[in-house]
Amino acid sequence: MINLSGMSLSELENLMSELGATKFRAKQIHNWIYTKSVSSIDEMTNLSKDFREQLKEIATVTDTKIKVKQTSKDGTIKYLVEYPDGECVETVLMRFDNRANLTACVSSQVGCAVNCSFCATGKGGFKRNLGYKEIIEQVLTIQRDTGLKVTNIVFMGQGEPLLNIDNVLKALEIFNNDFQIGARRITISTSGIIPGINRLAELDLQSTLAISLHAPNHKLRQELMPIEKKYPLDELKKALLNYVEKTGRRITIEYILIHGFNDTIEVAKELAHWLREIKCNINLIPYNSVIENDYKKPSGNDIMKFKYLLEHSGKKVTVRLERGADIDAACGQLRGKRENL
Ligand code: SF4
Repeated sequence: MINLSGMSLSELENLMSELGATKFRAKQIHNWIYTKSVSSIDEMTNLSKDFREQLKEIATVTDTKIKVKQTSKDGTIKYLVEYPDGECVETVLMRFDNRANLTACVSSQVGCAVNCSFCATGKGGFKRNLGYKEIIEQVLTIQRDTGLKVTNIVFMGQGEPLLNIDNVLKALEIFNNDFQIGARRITISTSGIIPGINRLAELDLQSTLAISLHAPNHKLRQELMPIEKKYPLDELKKALLNYVEKTGRRITIEYILIHGFNDTIEVAKELAHWLREIKCNINLIPYNSVIENDYKKPSGNDIMKFKYLLEHSGKKVTVRLERGADIDAACGQLRGKRENL
């Protein structure tokens, strides 16, 4: 069975020509999938009944199911989507009251090999990469279920996008061309995979690069992120400077604040120093306990002091709002819960 979701217009045109249908049919199907977000061929009512029957014999609109859905009081919706092989990933729709944006946070892998100490997904280990169609299906699942059009995409769900870069780039192309979501509305977040960052620098995409930094020195970062051993901060800084030089684009630095560990005034100063030559904005993420460990939430006062010190160094700093706190919205929680059922 051919899964029509994730097919570009030219791929649909080729399929139509194999079936002896006109190119115009491809345009109609494309519109039903990406704009009207239908879930079945029967809903494509401007195709003749005979043609729909012919199409149904070889193709389907989707092969992905919603396994679990949770809706938060703040409007965040979290899905556990299941692929035909039974593997599941999380995808989240976030809405912000003051903006018209609808942001999908998508996963790029089943599980993750990076194993950050604060992350539930990392604890479960790596299973497999997602194909680009499987990434696309996450956004289509949201659109089909809500009837809304996603406007922004962040690759911040499960997995390390730059360890599955070919599929991520192909998905990005489809988000651009077929969903009409501008590259500027797409963010790729990485734990610091240097070859991937270098590849993005060469491609000079308009999308935003976000770096999960979380610590400004080798010792602290290694405790949180074993990837620091392979791609240490000194090398990462060189890659980021090269990226900014090549693309002229501002990077987003993601920084999880953990009480007493990396949220002190000394660490804030060290971070400001590490970032001084890098064109970036900083996004502080107060730690939200998701798994059993010794990490604690920072106090409101410590967050504000940390933010103030960084702002004083001339950077733009935001504190990420907690989304979906009542529905296990942190990375890996829903999938973890399902596996424990
Ligand atoms: S935080 Fe991201 S990179 Fe780190 S283990 Fe979790 S999913 Fe992987």
